Amino acid sequence: MKKRVTLTFPRRMVQMPVTYRLAKDFNVAANIIRAQVAPNQIGKVVVELAGDIDQLDAALDWLRSQDVGVSLANREILIDEESCVHCGLCTGVCPTEALSLDPKTFMLNFTRSRCIVCEQCVPTCPVEAISTNF
Ligand code: SF4
Ligand code: SF4
Repeated sequence: MKKRVTLTFPRRMVQMPVTYRLAKDFNVAANIIRAQVAPNQIGKVVVELAGDIDQLDAALDWLRSQDVGVSLANREILIDEESCVHCGLCTGVCPTEALSLDPKTFMLNFTRSRCIVCEQCVPTCPVEAISTNF
């Protein structure tokens, strides 16, 4: 199964090869979606973890034991369909084509399963129709 989590690393952990440890010790694959990490600073990484459910839980327990903050909050993009004027601006920045304009109706389509919650679309909307649930 897959879990998307936000990890907050203390300064001493920022240089640690966490994805290697997750793969080697827990057989958990880590796909980094977004990272804000700088040397000697607290780091934040949004990551999708894939593996066996028990191994995933063990991996998260290990991360917590290393003082890594683990947030399982289910982050989502919200589109206000009442406000959207279907201008298509947001589709130009979406890296996964979760946002697209229907070629026939020219209406905005949002395919949630493709969205990686990178938030790049949020500031592009001229009518502030895109927001997050956090
Ligand atoms: S959050 Fe990112 S992936 Fe999701 S719809 Fe917006 S731009 Fe696309
Ligand atoms: S940028 Fe905003 S108004 Fe334009 S299509 Fe996207 S959500 Fe709709």
